[in-house]
Amino acid sequence: MLLLRVYALVKSPAPLTEPTPEPEPVDWFDDYFTVEPIDADTIAIGEPRYEQQNYNYLILGSERAILFDSGPGVRDIHPVVEALTPLPITAVPSHFHYDHIGNHARFDRIAVVDLPYLRERAGGGALRPTEAEHLGFAEGIAVPDLAVSEWWAPGREIDLGGRTLTVLHTPGHTPESISLLDRERGMLFTGDYLYPGPLFAFIPGADLNDYLETADHLLEVVPPGTLLLGAHREHPPGAPRLGVEDLQALQEALELLREGQLEGEGFYLKSYPINSKLRLLAEEGWPE
Ligand SMILES: [Zn+2]
Repeated sequence: MLLLRVYALVKSPAPLTEPTPEPEPVDWFDDYFTVEPIDADTIAIGEPRYEQQNYNYLILGSERAILFDSGPGVRDIHPVVEALTPLPITAVPSHFHYDHIGNHARFDRIAVVDLPYLRERAGGGALRPTEAEHLGFAEGIAVPDLAVSEWWAPGREIDLGGRTLTVLHTPGHTPESISLLDRERGMLFTGDYLYPGPLFAFIPGADLNDYLETADHLLEVVPPGTLLLGAHREHPPGAPRLGVEDLQALQEALELLREGQLEGEGFYLKSYPINSKLRLLAEEGWPE
């Protein structure tokens, strides 16, 4: 998610907002990060004072840990994850926007979705997101080089030791977006494809056809009752949680929009209602 400030040529990170009330089981790690156990081996690391309210997820197996997104890099997330696990950590971006890869360069291991055009660009070395993939110019944040140590093909199962994550390619918000599915525990980490609040389908790389295809795909592979954990929240307290019924609502809204039967509010950028937790921001109409 990116705020409309992107288009206002603001060149420095926004000042931090006031600390939010975060009742149990959320703990403040310091004056910036929050830590919230989703279960014993899954920890949401929140940045509620950053105006986009990012949530990153530390996903623990017995052998290795995954950090899914690392925030905008306004603060160093490394001390937080080090305090939470002694396991080797691989940082994985849900997508390349600056508010998700801001701390990736601080990690030795980085895994990126294996899409041919990305692998080609990396050419065996570091991968540098393009300005349009990163969008950090909005807050004066430079594009980092990602020293990719693992390429994760869509559909691949990642063994963390006693815990398996399936890599799902979920374009819509951006072409390189992924989600991670833990089928056994009933968790889906959705990045910016889906979170409570306004979904950004109007930015460079966003595509409504992709959004709908991904919704169809996810509804086929994600078991009923799965907890959906997104990368931004709209309101306190705690991590942004949704359910499969919200994914269903998104799919239905996208189908209505495609058929010209969903009315949006706004002049150029339309806000299309999905349900009480979700709305879609997109240009008017359905793309060719
Ligand atoms: Zn985002």
